[in-house]
Amino acid sequence: MPTLAEVLFPQSLPNPAALEAQYPPRSLPEGARVTRFAPSPTGFLHLGSLYTAYVNFLTAHSTGGVFFLRIEDTDKKREVAGGVASLLESLAAFGIVPDEGGVAGGAYAPYTQSARREIYQAFAKDLVERGLAYPCFCTEDELTALRDAQETADVPQKGYWGQWARCRDLSAQDAIARVQAGDAWVLRLRADGDAEKRIVFTDEVRGKIEMPENILDTVLLKRDGVPTYHFAHAVDDHLMRTTHVIRSEEWLASVPLHLALMRVCGFRAPKYAHISALMKSEDGAKRKLSKRKDPEAAVSWFSAQGYPADAVLEYLMTLISSAFEDWRRVHPTEPRSAFPFTLKKMSASGALFDAVKLADVSKGVIALVSGADLAQQVRHWAGAHDTALAALLDKHPDRLAQILAIDRDGAKKPRKDIARYGEVLGYVSYFFDELFVPALPLPEGISPADASEILGAYDYDADEDKDAWFARIRALALSLGYAASPKEYKDNPAQWRGHVGAVSSVIRAAITGRSNTPDLWAICRVLGATTVLSRLQKALVSLNT
Ligand code: GLU
Repeated sequence: MPTLAEVLFPQSLPNPAALEAQYPPRSLPEGARVTRFAPSPTGFLHLGSLYTAYVNFLTAHSTGGVFFLRIEDTDKKREVAGGVASLLESLAAFGIVPDEGGVAGGAYAPYTQSARREIYQAFAKDLVERGLAYPCFCTEDELTALRDAQETADVPQKGYWGQWARCRDLSAQDAIARVQAGDAWVLRLRADGDAEKRIVFTDEVRGKIEMPENILDTVLLKRDGVPTYHFAHAVDDHLMRTTHVIRSEEWLASVPLHLALMRVCGFRAPKYAHISALMKSEDGAKRKLSKRKDPEAAVSWFSAQGYPADAVLEYLMTLISSAFEDWRRVHPTEPRSAFPFTLKKMSASGALFDAVKLADVSKGVIALVSGADLAQQVRHWAGAHDTALAALLDKHPDRLAQILAIDRDGAKKPRKDIARYGEVLGYVSYFFDELFVPALPLPEGISPADASEILGAYDYDADEDKDAWFARIRALALSLGYAASPKEYKDNPAQWRGHVGAVSSVIRAAITGRSNTPDLWAICRVLGATTVLSRLQKALVSLNT
């Protein structure tokens, strides 16, 4: 006579001991952590998922461990064609490349749950053999009736457990008969928890946590033999030898179940760290960053806006660790990987996503990129997101690199004025004749007649170095009655019409159409004498007509 386990699993399956041998404990140095990112292939990468993936990545790589990717595709309804490829691509854009899984493969393969069916079934069969799991034949209607009965009886713990679990005490013989009669079944854990007792465990982020033991006979395998998240988690994270399960807080409540599953399967439990959801402040209240309501919940939004991946990670790091910004001030140019990251210092409360802060952080990151590199990044971005900009840059090769080098390459304090690639065109448009919009924003106290006088007397000489160039502007200022420095003006304002700043502002406005730009001398070098002289001339004409 076949046993219940044999009737439930007639196919030939590996045996759990062989699986243990096939996927042995990893030989890694003491303290090395094995972590994973385990998304469903929905094709959508939420900022919170990137955040979680990054924490996993940092945890493994700061300890000389392994970070792997596991595709959790047990829910075929959520799967999107090309979802895995696009996920890998999005992660790679952030430098989050798994050591195993994805295209890397690895010794603990397969890393995709749908390819691990036999592995789950092997452990499930073993649980049935040991009386720790049983088939449940309850139909949807029966389960609804059970919930209604529990409502009526006002049972504090709803669900399939104890005396409510009708199939729990079916004899093996009856169960076999029903399977053989073709009745559909799910496999349930025979929970041994006691609702009166509590389990205590230490969450790596949240510290010591106490929760009631699990008493629910949770489903391990669904009708189609596919595991639930809970069972797959236990089997996979054990066999893949994950040391730290770092995941979103929505799974915190399942820890008692997961620890029970690990125990009945004979697995050593990993350490757990539950990360809070990213929040957004709206009308003074905090709520979760929502895929439905917030465009910035999608990682793709940041790429489309032109935030460098590096800036997004730098920003996420400020959310991951409150010590990061102080560290950054002391180590402005060190790679982030040098920051002494630890899970224990992560905040347990939900970090607030702040777009203004992101832009600020991004400006700091972009300020440190060389003109040539930044130009290349902008061109790359434009290729995918702004074809007009791409065409303009291709028409003037090298020009953007020259522009962006101003006040950046070699500068002690590079300007922090660009937050996104998407802002660059507006920032540099006046360098391109086809986009230059003549305008003459005049500084306070300067009339059109004053400006005309200044421009009429100004001579640009392209051969002058910066000192000579500025000396000429200062001399011009003095000759027209403007102080040669702000200080001299302040010491005796009545004596002057203004100071040299006003004079150079007029020249700047004529050449660039703006009141605020990087270093004007360097701008003129990039524009070239012909353009500079022609713009000065046109501005003068416009003032005089
Ligand atoms: N597939 C699960 C999810 O996306 C993974 C959770 C985990 O990291 O264990 O929520």
